[in-house]
Amino acid sequence: MLEINTFQIIVVGGGHAGIEASLASSRMGYSTLLITKNKNSIGSLSCNPAIGGIGKSHLVKEIDALGGIMAEAIDNSGIQFKILNSSKGPAVRSTRAQADKLFYKKYIQKKLNKEKNLSILEREVTALIIKNNTVLGIITDKKEKIYSKSTILTMGTFLKGELYTGLKKKHGGRTGDHSSIKLANFLSQIPLKNNRLKTGTPPRIKKDSINFTKLVEQKGDVPIPHFSFIKSSLFPTLPQVSCFITYTNKKTHEIIRENLHKSPIYTGFLKGKGPRYCPSIEDKVVRFSDKSSHQIFLEPEGLYSNEIYPNGISTSLPIPVQTDFVHSICGLENAQITQFGYAVEYDFFDPRDLKLTLESKIVKGLFLAGQINGTTGYEEAAAQGILAGINAALNVYKKKYWIPKRHEAYLGVLIDDLCTQGVKEPYRMFTSRAEHRLILRENNADLRLTEKAYKLGLIKKNRWIAYNKKQEIIKKETYRIKNIIIPCSSKILKKKLKILISKKTDGLTLLKRPDVTYTKLISLDMFQPGINHKEAIEEIEVSAKYSGYIQRQNKEINKQKLQQNFSLPISFNYEKIPGLSNEAKIILNKHKPISISQASRTFGITPATISILLIHIKRGTFK
Ligand code: FAD
Repeated sequence: MLEINTFQIIVVGGGHAGIEASLASSRMGYSTLLITKNKNSIGSLSCNPAIGGIGKSHLVKEIDALGGIMAEAIDNSGIQFKILNSSKGPAVRSTRAQADKLFYKKYIQKKLNKEKNLSILEREVTALIIKNNTVLGIITDKKEKIYSKSTILTMGTFLKGELYTGLKKKHGGRTGDHSSIKLANFLSQIPLKNNRLKTGTPPRIKKDSINFTKLVEQKGDVPIPHFSFIKSSLFPTLPQVSCFITYTNKKTHEIIRENLHKSPIYTGFLKGKGPRYCPSIEDKVVRFSDKSSHQIFLEPEGLYSNEIYPNGISTSLPIPVQTDFVHSICGLENAQITQFGYAVEYDFFDPRDLKLTLESKIVKGLFLAGQINGTTGYEEAAAQGILAGINAALNVYKKKYWIPKRHEAYLGVLIDDLCTQGVKEPYRMFTSRAEHRLILRENNADLRLTEKAYKLGLIKKNRWIAYNKKQEIIKKETYRIKNIIIPCSSKILKKKLKILISKKTDGLTLLKRPDVTYTKLISLDMFQPGINHKEAIEEIEVSAKYSGYIQRQNKEINKQKLQQNFSLPISFNYEKIPGLSNEAKIILNKHKPISISQASRTFGITPATISILLIHIKRGTFK
């Protein structure tokens, strides 16, 4: 056995989780090895060529505020940008962009190669070195041993991955990549609970075989929204293109229904649970049988690619059936399929076996991030990656871990949901998962997290200075407009803004009204000159308009903080507590929550159970 270098941190896997994990630890100054099966596939977008979307964009902006690369990479490779939910409130507004797949991964690879403390090695990891319940490093397929203080596993869909098309299956992590069987076998020997999940992808279609003249064009937004808080002056880097919309129809559904007996899912050949919110077309036809059509977005895979990604028809039906149903769709009558759709089933680990730092509760120094924790999506993987990277680095010298709370970040919601509730199906982020969404807007992710990032050493001084400058602008301008008083007799207000006021008022109070925007306010002479900083203006406006709700949420958070302080002993036997239901006793004894707040979020624990626990805390039962 060959022993090579020792690193402080080893990251296994060059997907979205592995990239952010290795960047975070190396940027914090720790020697990091990113070890992956194929260097050229680092940063691959395995499925849809897009980043962001509802709830997911919040994660991307938080990753950016923490010094991660995802936002910057999509800004530099995006070929169509949109704001979703633009007519709804600021809490649920989300940015989404189509990526040029090739530019996206090349951008990431270039940046990783330049990173000072980061080495990249192309190998398959086949086992871990574990002694006394502590991970000491990894073993590769070339029989090398590499040592580390912390190890992060991010193998995505590769662990015992099996690809299904119709009733045929073969081993694979995704198309073109072998699955990781040796490592999966090794991991199943250590006591980490695992199970199977599945996901799928649609067939890809040759662009010049599509009749676009029959389809509805969808252009990107103007002005073009961006992801990163440090938008490059060259943004957008690439030319912008359109997507197109088409629909399935009765004929498509008929073909699918007639062939369900050839589907690996409907015959029970494939058992893993798939993502409920991103179902295959066969699932949609069965589950929503009253619908006669489903929307399909035809999304370009890149500027110079002749492939189109038909978003909405993920499938694992046999090849001839895929060809038939694709040809039944308007605009796709003569479509040539370049790559057929398939489903992938893989091992994942129960995230309830992880601490909120993403370190295993069983093996010390071993961190798990990304799809192997039961999530789906690039953004969810990347967000876990950055958190695991930070905590794996802090673990090297046993420094205090960083765990964002649910009211601080979507990242906090994500890890708390995973580690407390576990997953029964692939977990996808939504704004509805966050109870404090008005505080966790995508536009204020930098205000929530940049300071933490700077203290952890994740961002450089120039970014910290730029952030403080923006903060200063927001503070000064808010103060300025708050101190401009409009008399109740103001004629100009009536004339220009069509507003009547019964008592004198200040600019900030005026801005709280739904019909008064910052631009309108500044159109009044007394409020000039105003500022010319788009993001600062957005923050001032949102903070003013929603100040009442925000105050209420802050009150709620403070109340919850008090409860969070009530800790529960990990070794307590809940059988001793009278009044608890048998189900509650079983759940509490199984999961051993460390606090009232964690107990309240444990699956199956009701508010009534929490009330009983609070009574017993007051009585001193837990002492
Ligand atoms: P991955 O991106 O899968 O990266 C895993 C990395 O680990 C790879 O670099 C691999 O080479 C490396 N690796 C694996 N084993 C080893 C080993 N033993 N040694 C060294 N390196 C190893 N997400 C969506 O949001 N929507 C979708 O519709 C969607 N559909 C999908 C369809 C398919 C077919 C697949 C495969 C994925 C799909 N996803 C979808 C999921 C999305 O691709 C993942 O959520 C995301 O890529 C997970 O990131 P990750 O970093 O956890 O893992």
